[in-house]
Amino acid sequence: MYDYDLLIVGSANADLVIGVERRPAAGETVLGSDLAVHPGGKGANQAVAAARLGARTALLARVGDDDHGKLLLDSQRTAGVDTVGVLVGEVPTGVALITVDPSGDNSIVVSPGANGRLTPGDIRAAASLFHASRVVSTQLEIPLETVVEVVRSLAPGSRFVLNPSPPRALPREVLDACDPLIVNEHEAKVILGTSRVGDTPEDWARILLAKGPRSVVITLGAEGALVASADGARRIPAVRVDPVDTTGAGDAFTAALAWRLGTGESLAEAAAYAARVGAAAVTKAGAQASYPTAAEVEAL
Ligand code: ATP
Repeated sequence: MYDYDLLIVGSANADLVIGVERRPAAGETVLGSDLAVHPGGKGANQAVAAARLGARTALLARVGDDDHGKLLLDSQRTAGVDTVGVLVGEVPTGVALITVDPSGDNSIVVSPGANGRLTPGDIRAAASLFHASRVVSTQLEIPLETVVEVVRSLAPGSRFVLNPSPPRALPREVLDACDPLIVNEHEAKVILGTSRVGDTPEDWARILLAKGPRSVVITLGAEGALVASADGARRIPAVRVDPVDTTGAGDAFTAALAWRLGTGESLAEAAAYAARVGAAAVTKAGAQASYPTAAEVEAL
């Protein structure tokens, strides 16, 4: 009945990465490694992660008519994502300028570029994609008014998943639609604002649920995750692995969870699968380059 298991609406960036001995102070120039250019952005990452697992996935995003846009379209198509919803325009593709020091700490400057031009009108024009998709997932690297329009465009019976990253206060209309809202500890604290939030993820989940979402998932890195709904809260243990690079683990987790919910799994079942996908993703370097196939998840 649905053409797509998953529609991802979100950002697509070129990640420009340079290794440095130390990051420059104001007014200073330092020499770094050769430049590495990787496809990234939370929307593009989630679409690639889902498609590699075997989900029929479409991406609704904006890129520029430039080399970075071509890189992103190529990487999506190679992973098996349907790019019919990727709009190409005059504004340059979003870019993340990343410097990484020997300890692995990074400094990042993001130019949203075309991502900032994904408008509510673009969402309305893609109504057929919404009607063809069982689950719709988005993040906050696109304008908030566009996310609001995504919620208004959901087809009856489809499910909405939101990872509010980078985090900001959200209108009730968006919170009410989330099933689930997926946050890490930092995102949970920003969404909860300055209100007293308690000490445990169970406390945060309870207060987040009171703000409207039908369900909440809190990712806890190497500690796994917590799922919560009106039925109660439950810890999902992490799969033990030797981590190499945690970049993009959250996007892999979110994509896997959204896909599995659409297949009819319970929140706890889908989160257990997503925890395996997140664990697989931290065993390899990079974001999209680290995303496993379904066979690799089984083998874990
Ligand atoms: P990021 O923003 O770095 O992509 P995040 O903070 O959104 O990540 P995490 O909680 O770090 O998300 O990771 C998502 C999920 O991936 C976790 O809930 C967990 O299941 C899995 N995971 C992450 N790190 C590890 C680890 N070191 N070992 C095992 N599983 C991990």
